[in-house]
Amino acid sequence: MDVLRELVHRQLTEAVPQLQRYCQQPSIAAQHIGMPETVEFVVKMVTKAGGKAQVLDDCGGNPVIYAEFQAGVNGNQDKTLLFYNHYDVQPPEPLDEWTKPPFGAEIHDGKLYARGAADNKGELVVRLNAISLLMENGGLPCNVKFLIEGEEEIGSPSLPAYLAAHADLFRADACIWEFGSKNAEEQVQLVAGIKGMCYLQFWCHGADVDLHSSNGAIVDNAAWRLVHALASMKDANNRILVDGFYDDVAPLPPELLQMAEEQPFDEEKLRQQLGLRRPLITGDENPNIHLWGAPTMTICGIESGYTGEGSKTVLPRRAQAKVDCRLVPDQSPEDILAKVRKHLDLHGFTDVEVSLLNGEHAYRSDLSHPFVQMVVDTAREAYQTDVVLAPNSAGTGPMYPFGEYLGLDLPIVSTGCGWWNSRAHAPDESIRLADFEQAILHMVLLMREFGEH
Ligand SMILES: [Zn+2]
Repeated sequence: MDVLRELVHRQLTEAVPQLQRYCQQPSIAAQHIGMPETVEFVVKMVTKAGGKAQVLDDCGGNPVIYAEFQAGVNGNQDKTLLFYNHYDVQPPEPLDEWTKPPFGAEIHDGKLYARGAADNKGELVVRLNAISLLMENGGLPCNVKFLIEGEEEIGSPSLPAYLAAHADLFRADACIWEFGSKNAEEQVQLVAGIKGMCYLQFWCHGADVDLHSSNGAIVDNAAWRLVHALASMKDANNRILVDGFYDDVAPLPPELLQMAEEQPFDEEKLRQQLGLRRPLITGDENPNIHLWGAPTMTICGIESGYTGEGSKTVLPRRAQAKVDCRLVPDQSPEDILAKVRKHLDLHGFTDVEVSLLNGEHAYRSDLSHPFVQMVVDTAREAYQTDVVLAPNSAGTGPMYPFGEYLGLDLPIVSTGCGWWNSRAHAPDESIRLADFEQAILHMVLLMREFGEH
């Protein structure tokens, strides 16, 4: 083990400059900046690590890169591990809030600062260097494939088409998802699924023009209509009132309830970090149970009329709201949309329009699959610290299409090299090089274990 740690440490002389060069290459999908150059860069990294890359561009959007590494002569030819990464990053704005240049990849106090360092250029470099190390020291213990897309930060619109068209290419026995981080307790956080998404837009039109508000004596008001419509969908105790909304929500199985209990939730810390003014809406229940297993309905924004300085007496002609519902396994975004539509009609809001802006199904790996425990055990060994596993993240990502096209029994676990203050999507995004090094060791140990079992 000490020899291995030493090998990983030596690998950094290659891995760190490579990570810096990769982070210095902007690849902002939303702004169409640097995408072809980044594809070329990734292909070169794959080739340098000893793999074969194929750029797929037959399904539109930014290309998807397929990479393949063969198991060595002593490796297990029958086992294939799939890594999911993306080469695009979020826009760096607001630029004046960065204390280091977002594409400078400067290193200060053991941290590398760059847009995309934690999400998830660091992870790709970790994985490729773990592969290089294994290839140079006895050969790869298993086959490895990569799916590296270029549209994750804009919602992965083309990904399902690529998975559908090239399912045979990406077929694998298990999958490591894009990223992960240590929490504020310095525990390694692993996640084996994600929640789904039903993102809704509501519109209410009351007139062709804004009116003098004296007309409030006789004319109905679009903003009030929308507020009443929204209020009809959730009560003051945060119970969602849309008929059938909870029909497909299964209670968490006993083993997950037990996991939830075993993972302490520091409400006070959260309260201080976020400056929360109200108690958590979970009451006496364990918040983990809700984060993992309860669907949500969140008003993300409401807009109508005048909200500028001072007063303006106006009766707005229209109002809109954006609402997201985080879904749990077996709920479907299209079905939720239909139920919301029916609810509005039944409550007399036939004039309130609703449409689905984006929908995604939840995904949860079978936690009893040996691969899940293998990722946990090897993480503990590599990081020498506590490892906490969540059955799914409270957030959303394009995990379901992987199951849909590669098999719904595909175990998927997310892990990476971030830390609790990595600030993904925000100014001063960073990773700590010590975590980066441990993450390489984790991937080395995992591929070895995976090849043996
Ligand atoms: Zn990401």
